[in-house]
Amino acid sequence: MSGGALLRIEGLEKCFGGLRATDGLDLDVLPGELHALIGPNGAGKSTAIGQITGEIPPDAGRILFDGQDITRLPPARRVRRGLSRSFQIVQLLDEETAEANAALAVQAAQGHSFRFWRDATRDEGLRAPARALLRRAGLPDARHGIPAGDLAAGERKQVELALALAASPRLLLLDEPMAGLGASESRAMTETLRGLKGQVAILLVEHDMEAVFALADRISVLVYGRVIATGTAAEIRANAEVRAAYLAEEEGV
Ligand code: ADP
Ligand code: MG
Repeated sequence: MSGGALLRIEGLEKCFGGLRATDGLDLDVLPGELHALIGPNGAGKSTAIGQITGEIPPDAGRILFDGQDITRLPPARRVRRGLSRSFQIVQLLDEETAEANAALAVQAAQGHSFRFWRDATRDEGLRAPARALLRRAGLPDARHGIPAGDLAAGERKQVELALALAASPRLLLLDEPMAGLGASESRAMTETLRGLKGQVAILLVEHDMEAVFALADRISVLVYGRVIATGTAAEIRANAEVRAAYLAEEEGV
């Protein structure tokens, strides 16, 4: 273990042309904690998530998971080690029901090759765990049989969370789970995440400061690709540099 951290990021860098999306990013996520990553649009939050999952190869820096260097591990092998993510833009099979989408994720998590795939829309051995995941993600049973394309925005976010949980992650990476949601949908997602707290470590990228301050054990503030402050909600609220760089722009803070 690296100083007790589940995830340790050291000096992460990524340039897109002349633009440094992450620029010497350091971050620790402790086992079981909910760690929020906040910052202005374009600060590099989604890039950091992509680097942690392996979708975006870093130009420099190291990523340690459970004390092991995973910097050059392909994304699928990181998932098997316990890293799982959701996306800022939800990616679902719109023609399939919520339950079938989750059943496919259960099947994928079982690691079979596509040749041996069962029909996830019929197989009760996949559908039962799929329903359990959807419930954990907050989607009511009455909505499990609805095609994903007909679900409300908040329900689609719940299905996506269920898909991320299918991999039985030890660290869940969530990129703006409240984005585009109404107030009641955001509150439902906040309650769901509160329920997951302690079961799985969470790195939460989110602009909804009410949710962040209610949920986070610690908060890191990302500005121009590097963390300018890490602390509890009270510490971050009181930090003058953070207020100037970010919080002053956000409503209600
Ligand atoms: P955030 O999620 O904090 O809003 P991003 O990580 O999406 O920020 O983006 C950080 C910066 O990198 C932005 O200026 C963005 O335009 C740029 N960027 C992100 N992805 C790409 C890409 N694939 N190609 C070029 N520039 C990118
Ligand atoms: Mg983003």
